[in-house]
Amino acid sequence: MISIAKPNVGAEEKEAVCKIIDSGMIACGKVTEAFEEEFSSYIGTKHGIATTSGTTALEVAIKSLGIGKGDKVLTTAFSFIATANAILYSGAIPVFVDIEEDSYNIDPDLIEEKLQEQPEIKAVLIVHLFGLPCQMDRIKEIVDRHHVMLIEDCAQAHGAFFQEKKVGSFGDAAAFSFYPTKNMTTGEGGIVLTNHDDVAKKARLLINHGMEIRYHHKEIGYNYRMTNMAAAMGQVQLSKLEKFNERRRANADRYICGIHNTKIIMPEMSEGHVFHQFTIRVKDGLRDRFTAFLEENGVGYGVFYPLSMPEQECYKQYGFETHFPIVDCIKQEVVSIPVHPLLTDEEVDMIISVINRF
Ligand SMILES: *Cc1c(COP(=O)(O)O)cnc(C)c1O
Repeated sequence: MISIAKPNVGAEEKEAVCKIIDSGMIACGKVTEAFEEEFSSYIGTKHGIATTSGTTALEVAIKSLGIGKGDKVLTTAFSFIATANAILYSGAIPVFVDIEEDSYNIDPDLIEEKLQEQPEIKAVLIVHLFGLPCQMDRIKEIVDRHHVMLIEDCAQAHGAFFQEKKVGSFGDAAAFSFYPTKNMTTGEGGIVLTNHDDVAKKARLLINHGMEIRYHHKEIGYNYRMTNMAAAMGQVQLSKLEKFNERRRANADRYICGIHNTKIIMPEMSEGHVFHQFTIRVKDGLRDRFTAFLEENGVGYGVFYPLSMPEQECYKQYGFETHFPIVDCIKQEVVSIPVHPLLTDEEVDMIISVINRF
């Protein structure tokens, strides 16, 4: 079975982590600081605050911008649940909008429409889904004109860029995840990026029990600190990220050239796409037959995502709007096929031939 994801952690990571273990300084420390500096410089922001996960990074990003109880945050209906949960953790209320059919990303026209309709909306939280950057020129113009804050969920888009600028550097704050299936990993982990000094300061407080002076707690914070062990793995992974992403793009190119099946809709390509997932659509209600066929032929796959966020059971109590024409159609058609950097050309060709035979 060719698996849908495979963490790409090797001897160098092992050596780096063992060095930290031998040093005795295994918790949050100097290595975490160095990793924060390296990752934020790579993306192109002034500050980086490493955390325990992408979810906690999103939560801290939102809270550090001063978003809280009763505030409204506009976001996409189509993402991993952490995107909307992070809004709810802060006490704010998510307002969901539909996506563009071709990119699977939030529709800029609907951002404009909702901001006109609900001028009390405080922030827009976008997701660069599957590694494809959102239309940042249009989105920046809209949020700036409406004077609302912009937050980027970059959990699937490490190194992705739009007009030569990396995602994570456009917004007032951004969050990345370093979960093992993402484009780079620290085991579990995340990071908040921002160019604002005050936001960085607040984030730093929040992840460390609101503490600036030892055992003097300015506010109720959390322990969301990244360990030196995780950061050491992150340093090595960051040094390999561009290579990983090149390999993902090469695999994607191979699919684009090789897959010719009239039942399949291929994903949008763009120069700055880093293909966290290669997500195709299967037409005519054939998705379940297609995934069964993949299974029979030893090809792993994922359905990201079978439901929109607002229709998840955990949100029933909130009574969110659940009618989104594009998401409602696409969620029944999407299938993600393996695109990770450890695939061989032979495996990719095998997957192509299976799909063409369907
Ligand atoms: C993975 C992911 C997250 C959460 O990251 P974790 O590290 O798993 O907490 C948030 N948003 C999106 C879009 C993700 O894919």
